[in-house]
Amino acid sequence: MPYEPFEVLTIENKKDSVFLRKQSKKVNLDKNKNEAIYFSKRLLKTVQDPKNMGVGIAAPQVGVQRQIILVQRFDKANEPFEIYINPIIKSCSDEQKLGKEGCLSIPNYTAEVFRPIKIVVEYVDLDGKKHIEEISGFTSVIFQHEIDHLNGILFTDHLQSE
Ligand SMILES: [Zn+2]
Repeated sequence: MPYEPFEVLTIENKKDSVFLRKQSKKVNLDKNKNEAIYFSKRLLKTVQDPKNMGVGIAAPQVGVQRQIILVQRFDKANEPFEIYINPIIKSCSDEQKLGKEGCLSIPNYTAEVFRPIKIVVEYVDLDGKKHIEEISGFTSVIFQHEIDHLNGILFTDHLQSE
């Protein structure tokens, strides 16, 4: 059976906008590995759905309160989408850069956000192997945006009020 895309939660729905503000829980891969693999495939379908194409997505955006994100690796050959479980930002550069962002959960809106240009991320892959990786450029912005979702933060929270 093909993997079905999920519906994406948006802030236009009151109940969904509350859900998007929740803290996601850690994934226990020892117990839930098969579930995580299945979920990851459906999450990939969702972010590649012509209805809502994106460069990254986080589990809470499809109503799953778990620490799973999918990021398109523009810093790798062929720009693959990769899954990261329980990702956290260990450190980030003092130097920041302004960049345009949008979000599948905030339809028809983009804005410029300041983000650190370089981050160190720790995560586990679907095999349960731990990785620590330094990431910079646009890919690092996607990681920061998606990890924010796991903590109930939306990119509009980073905008300075004028
Ligand atoms: Zn988003």
